[in-house]
Amino acid sequence: MTRSAGPERVARDGAASGGAASGSAVSDGAVSDGAVPDDVADLPSLAPGCSSVAALDALVVDCRACPRLVAWREEVGRTRRAAFRDQEYWARPLPGFGDPEAAIQVVGLAPSAHGSNRTGRMFTGDRSGDVLFAALHRAGLASRPTATSADDGLRLNGVRLTAPVRCAPPADRPTPAERRRCGPYLARELELVGPRVVLVLGGFGWRAMLATLVEQGWDVPRPRPRFRHGAELPLVHADGRATTLLGCYHVSPRNVSTGVLTPAMLDAVLHRARTLAGLAALDS
Ligand code: SF4
Repeated sequence: MTRSAGPERVARDGAASGGAASGSAVSDGAVSDGAVPDDVADLPSLAPGCSSVAALDALVVDCRACPRLVAWREEVGRTRRAAFRDQEYWARPLPGFGDPEAAIQVVGLAPSAHGSNRTGRMFTGDRSGDVLFAALHRAGLASRPTATSADDGLRLNGVRLTAPVRCAPPADRPTPAERRRCGPYLARELELVGPRVVLVLGGFGWRAMLATLVEQGWDVPRPRPRFRHGAELPLVHADGRATTLLGCYHVSPRNVSTGVLTPAMLDAVLHRARTLAGLAALDS
């Protein structure tokens, strides 16, 4: 039995249409050292065989391993929010976005239904992304302060955005099983990128990140360190790799509108991330 590639952007009438921004793991046939499995549930198992970030990204976008999330991301792409009625949604898993050799990886939890699930690029097209990209630009880590679409020309400098779960979940809450199933993508991305700092946004992302790291061989203290804004957690892997987790309140509209996270707080965390990552200070 052979497997067909997943749908590309979901057209308004629900039929698949062309125009995907990334290559297909199946159609280009050059993604992993291993063969594409017959069972789509096995696709994450190919992540360790990806020899480059580009190959991993191409693998991710074809994944259909979580039936609940596949159904949701595609349903959202068919029904659409009224404001985006004339747009084709990405409606597929999200690859990471940014520098493939980034010193800093920024980790959320999962794509938003009408943001990155629509635009096809991490944090792009929603209010959380508006806050994040503006801060990255102030920190000299993004070429522009706004992100509107996957082809808006935005570049990240020394930063890569990613998530433990690559498909938009209902109510923004993936299940533990879905997070586990998606873990090999994040684990391989960390291996290939090798960030000196992993900036984790929010408590849900922090817990998901720790769980994934434990499953993937990182030495995480017990009891598990709790999330707090500004938390720093140096970690080592059994193979000798090292990184530092840095906690930051999520850039959600709720946190920003209530003052839980201010621009100054976000700037301070990004400044600390730059320092830990050894990137040149902007203000020196
Ligand atoms: S959440 Fe991850 S494992 Fe599940 S379908 Fe999406 S990409 Fe695949």
